[in-house]
Amino acid sequence: MVVGAGLAGVRSVEALRAHGFAGRITLIGEERHRPYDRPPLSKAVLLGETDSTVVDSDLDALDVRLCLGAAAKGLREGVLETTEGELEYDGLVIATGATPVRLRGEGRQHVLRTIDDALALRERLVPGARVAVIGAGWIGAEVATAAARAGCAVTVVEAGETPLAAALGAVGGHTIPWYAQAGVELRLGAKVGTIDADGLTLMSGARVKADVVVTGVGVRPAVEWLKGSAVEVDNGVVVDEHLRTRLPGVVAVGDCASWWSRRFGTRLRVEHWDTALQAPDTAAAALLGEDAVYDPVPYFWSEQFGHMVQFAGHHPAAERVLLRGDPRGEGKWAACWLTAGDRLAAILTVDRPRDVVQGRRIVEAGHRLDPARLTDPAVPLRDC
Ligand code: FAD
Repeated sequence: MVVGAGLAGVRSVEALRAHGFAGRITLIGEERHRPYDRPPLSKAVLLGETDSTVVDSDLDALDVRLCLGAAAKGLREGVLETTEGELEYDGLVIATGATPVRLRGEGRQHVLRTIDDALALRERLVPGARVAVIGAGWIGAEVATAAARAGCAVTVVEAGETPLAAALGAVGGHTIPWYAQAGVELRLGAKVGTIDADGLTLMSGARVKADVVVTGVGVRPAVEWLKGSAVEVDNGVVVDEHLRTRLPGVVAVGDCASWWSRRFGTRLRVEHWDTALQAPDTAAAALLGEDAVYDPVPYFWSEQFGHMVQFAGHHPAAERVLLRGDPRGEGKWAACWLTAGDRLAAILTVDRPRDVVQGRRIVEAGHRLDPARLTDPAVPLRDC
């Protein structure tokens, strides 16, 4: 049984079949839509280029019973409690993803997690509309990009000192000029107090007038329903390097799973597409009694203000950051996080896709780099 019909859920069904499981599979999802991809919601869907992002998977051929519009409510050993009644299972994949954080206030606030959210927001991104985006993180930057392109007057309000501060630290500061170049006003160090009928009130008392407010301040793992169960929850479902929970026959994948990374010697919960795509293979193997380990170098991308931004690795393991190329120059640059022994812990690339591919392999291999060559963008990363 698979609970959560997002990408990680549907990939779990595929992986179970690929590993030879021929028994019955039920896929349970709270949303009424067939499984769909979320990255295009803040890109092609908001830009009006598409209305559907359904995952390309032949569910009929996979012989899966699809149970949509049904939510899991609780879990006992061998029994999943759902809004449609109790279901017995031999093996269970938890793939319930994450839900967006909302802020205080009486005013209408949009969030962006579902296709319904995206279509509702797109309708309001009309020329001249005043749009306030709360949070200059990945989603906030992409929403601001789409809103500016739609001809809206966009203000991004960010509590931190730079955009992407939580994800990238000071490196996020190199994206500040992109906002002005796109005609977007960026207000840093501005904390939102409440969302009102006509905009925002900041903690400072200042007001930001807006017709549309979008809250993009992060998500929480959707694991409330596991309260009181034997599954350990601590910033997501706690799983080992095989993606197994401590309840026998129960694994977890995707945005809701916090797994033990052997490579980085820490727990990781990664809210990105590549993890939802890849982890189910290990989880299915674990469920079927195989000895697989999930230990990737995390990867993700974001498309914002005309730039392709990509990241691979885990930078808290690093001691310093070196730049490859000048962020103020023609725009193509990379930031490389190095450990004390000059090993690459993580890389962020802006319009340098080859660097991220090579960088991810270097993080995986764990070999030393020559910092002097690394800072020369003309030297291929693999030769550094
Ligand atoms: P989800 O996609 O959240 O799916 C979980 C499903 O479980 C949901 O349908 C939910 O309704 C359902 N569910 C929840 N609780 C229950 C319950 N109790 N019972 C039954 N069902 C339940 N990543 C990138 O790497 N690059 C990007 O550019 C990028 N862009 C993104 C843009 C947007 C707008 C969003 C929202 C995400 C983006 N991501 C991106 C992140 C990526 O989409 C997620 O990491 C991925 O969708 C996680 O998949 P998942 O299956 O774990 O969770």
